[in-house]
Formats: sequence, structure tokens, C-alpha cells
Amino acid sequence: MKTLILYLDALGYRFISKENTPFLYNYGKENSLLRLKTLLAYTGIEHTFITGELPSESGIWTGFVYKKNYIGKILRFIPLPNSILSYPYALMNYYLSGNTYLSKLYHIPRKFFGKFNSGTKHKIWKKDFFQKRSFVYYGWPFFVQNNKVKLDFIKRNDEYKVKKFIKSFNDNTDIYFIQLVDLDKTMHEFGTVNEDTIKELRRQDSYASIIVNEFKAKFPDSRVIIWSDHGFIDIKEEINIGEKIKNFKNIDYFLDSTIARFWFKSEKDREEIIRILSRIRHGKILDLKDKDKYNIPLGKEFGEVIFVLEPGYLFVPNFHQGKIGCRGMHGYMPDKADLDGIFIINKEINKKEIELNEVLGLIEYGNLQV
Ligand SMILES: [Zn+2]
Repeated sequence: MKTLILYLDALGYRFISKENTPFLYNYGKENSLLRLKTLLAYTGIEHTFITGELPSESGIWTGFVYKKNYIGKILRFIPLPNSILSYPYALMNYYLSGNTYLSKLYHIPRKFFGKFNSGTKHKIWKKDFFQKRSFVYYGWPFFVQNNKVKLDFIKRNDEYKVKKFIKSFNDNTDIYFIQLVDLDKTMHEFGTVNEDTIKELRRQDSYASIIVNEFKAKFPDSRVIIWSDHGFIDIKEEINIGEKIKNFKNIDYFLDSTIARFWFKSEKDREEIIRILSRIRHGKILDLKDKDKYNIPLGKEFGEVIFVLEPGYLFVPNFHQGKIGCRGMHGYMPDKADLDGIFIINKEINKKEIELNEVLGLIEYGNLQV
């Protein structure tokens, strides 16, 4: 059966409404709309969705891990801004290392270019779910048709992508997968209640309606899946962790927007950093129990000490947004705020919510017990 998988980045369960997302609201009602339980993860979410493996099982969790990066080591000496270096970085990763998970350099400090590497080698279209079928995968910077890759580094908006995607519908392909990302960008920039955000929500709803209707018209007896990786919440306070640790010259650290991870050369530094972190009221150091609860992988490359912020707080500066913060964020402990995504399927399901690692079983075998 032909399957459409429409991935609406950042369209949280709580944003579905008759008013702002009428198509998704009704389509969910006529079919099945479930709350998709999200994870305390970045990269690991889509990976779990398509493989059924949690970050603790796959080791795929955040965008970067503590691992030697030879390409980064070379690029750190080239006096160009990270935004420009990101292109040769991605191309070298693809052509020299054979990676398909292509990351930008964001605002990672140069001294760390050689110390951190992508949290995974491959993008999800390399996984079994796609590889055992004929497929179209469309997500920046890849348009892949049965492993024939077209790279397009130009930032296309979702409208452009939707048009291109629809044109790819043909009789010989089983799986059609597209990721739309403009809502994620808008929510980061404006937060969850802004006028522009509402407009973007409505636009995403109309894209969903266009894609699904076109797909159903062409392939009436087909499977339709619409999902999102997480919701969003508004930022109420920024926390400058860089300021607190600037005098430590011998530690390595990675500052994601909501997670700070540390690696040490001396026990003294470790103790002092732990003391500093313990004084930050709006977050916590993950202990083994937390790691188990949130399915965090345990290796050293993920962080010797991992500090996670409470919902609504944001590290500024951080290695993603740099010195300028943003209004909305995701990537928090999922039991502390409503950050769940959606899972819509044109099939009757007797459930109100579903775990990310149950999805594969449901798509592949039609059952929920995995
Ligand atoms: Zn995001």
C-alpha cells in the first residue's frame, strides 16, 4: 500500500484546533488523531519514529557528541564565519566521509570544531524502513528518490517544497516522506501566540490539506500518516551559563539551547562545575534515574555531566542560536510541560496517545504491541 508520511515539524498536539488547523482537526476526527509522546531529545526524535529505537538503545540523541572531528579541525583555521563555513563543512561530510546527516556549524566556538561531531552518521532515509522499499524523501538538503540523491542547499520555503513534492507522485513509489520546517522556525522566532505564528499554523494546515487531498486523489486506497516531533513553549527567562564557566580553561562543554554537557580533565573542575550547576535553580543535573526515565544514552560521548533546564528557560548564549536568544523552544523534560506532538493515521485506532517507539510497529505491522 502506498504510504504518505507528512512530518510537520513543531506542530504540537495542543496547537490543533478547529480555528487554526481546521483540516488537521477534521481529518483527525474522521480518522485517528493521537497525542504522540515526545522525548527529551533533538536528533533522536525522528530516528526513534522511523526505527522504533529509543535514544538509549541507538545512541542517537542530540545533534552533536564528544567525538573527534577531522573536518572541523581543518576548517577551524579558515577565517570565515560559521554560517559560510557550514557549506564546505556539509559538503566535505557528504563527499569525504559519506555522511548523510549533514549538520551546520551554527555558533559552535572554533576551539571546539575538532572535538564535537554529528550525533549520527546518517539521516533517516538511510534506515531500513526506507531502504527496503521504493521511496521519495524530501527534507533539507536532500531530495532522494530511491537512493538517487539531489542536494539542494538553498533554503526553500515549505510552499516550494510542497509543490515539488506533489509533482513527484508516481505509480512506482511506495513511501512518500516530506518534512516541513517553517513552523519550527516561526515558533522559535516569535513564540507560540504571536500573529505570525498563527498565520504559519494556518499555512501548515493548508499544506497538509493540499498534500493529503492530492495524494488521496491519485492513490485512493493508501495509508496517510501525519506527525510532528514536538510542540513548543514560550521562553520566560534566559540563563547565561557561559558567564558562569568562562574561567574554566581545561573543560570541554557543549551548550544546546536547553541542555549543557561537560567533559573534564580534572576532578577539581568537575566538582566545581557541579557546584555551579547546582546553584542554577531552573534546571537539574541528570542522575542515573533521570537518564533511565528519559531514555538518555549513557556513554561518555553524550556528556560526563548533563544539565537540563526547566521548561521556559533558555541558555543564552548557546551553540545553536548564539548570543541572540529566541521566543520559543522545545527540548525539555517531557513530563514537565506539554510538548507532545501529533500522530494522525487514516485507520481506526483505539488509543488516545502513542509512544514514539511504538509508531514503527503500528505502521509496519498494524499493531501497537511492540
Ligand atoms: Zn526547533
